[in-house]
Amino acid sequence: MKFDLLTLFPGMFSGPFSESIVKNAVDKGLIEISLHNIRDYANDRHRVTDDYPYGGGAGMVMKVEPLTACIESVRTERPASKVVLTTPRGRPFTQALAGELANEDGLIIICGRYEGIDERVSEMFVDLEVSIGDFVLTGGEPAAIVLVDAVSRLIPGVLGSKESAEEDSFRNGLLEYPQYTRPPEFRGQMVPPVLLSGNHREIERWRRRESLRRTLMVRPELLDAVELTEEDEKFVRMLRDGGGTDD
Ligand code: SAM
Repeated sequence: MKFDLLTLFPGMFSGPFSESIVKNAVDKGLIEISLHNIRDYANDRHRVTDDYPYGGGAGMVMKVEPLTACIESVRTERPASKVVLTTPRGRPFTQALAGELANEDGLIIICGRYEGIDERVSEMFVDLEVSIGDFVLTGGEPAAIVLVDAVSRLIPGVLGSKESAEEDSFRNGLLEYPQYTRPPEFRGQMVPPVLLSGNHREIERWRRRESLRRTLMVRPELLDAVELTEEDEKFVRMLRDGGGTDD
């Protein structure tokens, strides 16, 4: 998978991509990350990349010419890649969308700045607009880091068994159950005994219920999109009625 990041601030990526899993994935050749400085494609004397908005208003807008030159140059190298624009108005970034993007050959990700980019860039080149949440960042770079991170870990071989994605939150539409590791008791706080029981059926049941409990408490709307078993339904009903356990 090839990621091409189009940015005015390439230095912002050096930390996030030079540690841990993403770095290992690059080192193993499982992913490739290339940074392209949009300013290098501005051909006027001062290498200007932004200008005042037509119609007035606050802030500046990223100019169409440098972005076009940058995208066209990268697309020549990567004709099969999808062009993604980071923007608060985009499709919400979810685990499902990360899964879809992980099937692409490559992503060319545009990092906006200021008030955003000239709309014509979007109309001419962008395949998908993506938002990482209902808030406004100062620039698309943190959003691009989020995209690269979440998509990379779904590429076969990127996660070892130590960091498996199998049980992650959202994978089955629910939030993940609580996790514990040794010691079994810390400052009087005990690990739930079922996890020490060795009874795998009971552990699975406990985990499913804790996932349901947590999802109901924090993100109840997620439950509407999940296929629940009869037992799940019964448990959720009981939680909604104020009960904690039916055992
Ligand atoms: N004026 C724009 C608006 O109201 O939608 C906000 C521009 S923002 C200050 C600058 C850039 O940050 C955007 O062009 C986009 O690339 C990026 N950005 C900001 N918030 C984002 C979000 N929630 N998801 C993805 N990208 C975001």
